[in-house]
Amino acid sequence: MTTRRKLIAGNWKMNGLKADGLALARGIVDKLKTAPAPACDLLVCPPTSLVALVAEAVGGSALAVGGQDCHAKASGAHTGDTAAVALADLGCAYVIVGHSERRTDHAETDAVVKAKAEAALAAGMIAIVCIGETLAQRDAGQTIEINRSQLRGSLPEGSNATNTVIAYEPVWAIGTGRVATPAQAQEVHAAIRAELVQKLGADTAGRMRILYGGSMKPDNAKELLALPDVDGGLIGGAALKVADFWAIAESC
Ligand code: PEP
Repeated sequence: MTTRRKLIAGNWKMNGLKADGLALARGIVDKLKTAPAPACDLLVCPPTSLVALVAEAVGGSALAVGGQDCHAKASGAHTGDTAAVALADLGCAYVIVGHSERRTDHAETDAVVKAKAEAALAAGMIAIVCIGETLAQRDAGQTIEINRSQLRGSLPEGSNATNTVIAYEPVWAIGTGRVATPAQAQEVHAAIRAELVQKLGADTAGRMRILYGGSMKPDNAKELLALPDVDGGLIGGAALKVADFWAIAESC
């Protein structure tokens, strides 16, 4: 029997101004106060511009706050970047690293992602390490090898089941409305866990959470979250509406 508590994480991406972020965060906190608690941990990752505001708004509730990216260095001449320790200072408990949009838009390699994840751990946060294949790689039959290799290259030193979460996000499913079938998701999640066994041992691998991300919505969440190696979701579009985010959480 699994002892892994599921995590439902909202990635707001570059969306929202102060009023939007506050309404979304307060809406989820209100749900936590008035509805039966879902059987999962809840996290929102606002854009950096809203992290301080949202962290203050959720303060004291069961809703955790995370960043969407961090720099590998703790300080220095890195204009426009945000240090992991600065996110932690604002109240972040988690930070996403290696999202496919960062890997594509900012040419982030596995080595960069690994360094960022290590900075997150050093700052006392939980790193959510994202991996996933493109459609071309899937069509070429490379899905498992690509995910294994990204995992090997991106996993931080000192990683354990408490400080690291893996997010499997097939690039072709992110923001497209095209979701992995349960069989596709379970196959990759199981392969990721097998790789974690090799890297970290069976005990840690058995306790580490592996999230699915890519067009998870209220109408497909239950099926995906019921899979044996799916330990939660990283949610983009559906995390921007309280009702949808909550419905996904209730599917745990
Ligand atoms: C994401 O941004 O990580 C994501 C999974 O987005 P969406 O749910 O919109 O596909």
